[in-house]
Amino acid sequence: MIDRVMQAVDDLWDAEVQFLQGLVRRPSTLHHEAEIQNWIARELAEMGLEVDRWEIDPGALKSLPGYSPVEWSYHGRPNLVGTLRGSGGGKSLLLNGHVDVVSVEPIHFWSHDPWGGEIVDGRMYGRGSADMKSGIAAMIFAVKALQRAGVRLKGDVYLNTVIEEECTGAGALSTIARGYRADAVVIPEPFGQTALISQVGVLWARVTVRGAGAHARSASAATNAIFKALPLLQAVKELEAEVNRPEAKPAVWRDIPHPINYNVGQFHAGDWTSTVPAEAVFEVRIGTYPGENLEDVKARFKDRIMEAARRDPWLRDHLPEVIFYAFHAEGADFDPNQEIFAALADAHQAVTGTPIRHEVTTATTDARFFQLYQGVQTTCYGPSGDNLHAADEWVDLESVRSVTKVLARLMMDWCGADA
Ligand SMILES: [Zn+2]
Repeated sequence: MIDRVMQAVDDLWDAEVQFLQGLVRRPSTLHHEAEIQNWIARELAEMGLEVDRWEIDPGALKSLPGYSPVEWSYHGRPNLVGTLRGSGGGKSLLLNGHVDVVSVEPIHFWSHDPWGGEIVDGRMYGRGSADMKSGIAAMIFAVKALQRAGVRLKGDVYLNTVIEEECTGAGALSTIARGYRADAVVIPEPFGQTALISQVGVLWARVTVRGAGAHARSASAATNAIFKALPLLQAVKELEAEVNRPEAKPAVWRDIPHPINYNVGQFHAGDWTSTVPAEAVFEVRIGTYPGENLEDVKARFKDRIMEAARRDPWLRDHLPEVIFYAFHAEGADFDPNQEIFAALADAHQAVTGTPIRHEVTTATTDARFFQLYQGVQTTCYGPSGDNLHAADEWVDLESVRSVTKVLARLMMDWCGADA
């Protein structure tokens, strides 16, 4: 039976590559997720799965742990679950993937069409090709291979595609709020066929710095907000260095040279070359260790900004504003003694002939919701690729095929299968 399923993955391989190309060719940056979700929903319906589609009601999520407040609307931005009903008596598995991708700018840095899904030497290029449309293709085609091989699972499988993994996790949180709960969750994020055991937390901060604007002819008497932001940016870098000191690292992070990144990801100021900018705004993505209280991390960040401001004669009287929005993601550990890790290790060993490795990531994933707030054993296991969030993102296609086989095996083992 297993051989039939593995053969079915190979037989469906060309179709899987085309499907992944179809995903990459549907740009799905923030607010533009409907087209790809509708396309996936059609595919899941054609496979005979029960398709559930919903939009997020932030009011219903607000009181839940892990909620991230946003400044935008969820209208027209669906989340999905396709349910493959088992025959009964087996454990259930939820496979989750995020359809959202980050911006492709600056686009002139790309040597491949970011929305083209071009294939060169076994790699598919494009935004989301690795992170994580390849994982979504793998989880859907693992189910297709089971169906083609005539395998009926005992437990239910949920194929869950969500929005906003890259900024809030609201799609995953809303899946839980909608009542979905499985015996285990696997997220095929592109971590090179490793099993995830720990991830950092993430906060987003926005710092608004006031200057005194003027015509450039009197610039020497004005206060340029760009220059007033500089000591505050310096304070961010100093705090980042402090939290990465070896003695500040929890044990599992000791071998990671720089686990906590305080990334200044946006800086906006000025709109006219002959005007002194009256305001500068910068945004920082703040990493945290698992177990750190987000309110403490926020307070520490804000204190440092204010301390730096008080050392400046202008800023002392015009204190910056610090707010936190979107990502309020706690760090999370995923105990490798949980059963799903053993099942995944067996499936990985059977397909690749090598033992599975564990991974810690200096990024966040939606895995935190299922593990921390639902108490469901969770990990990530997905394909290999590179240049995530950068130009020329790519995925290694053979790793996608391998992950598809591992997920198919995992479903048969975890959920149980009737011949
Ligand atoms: Zn991802």
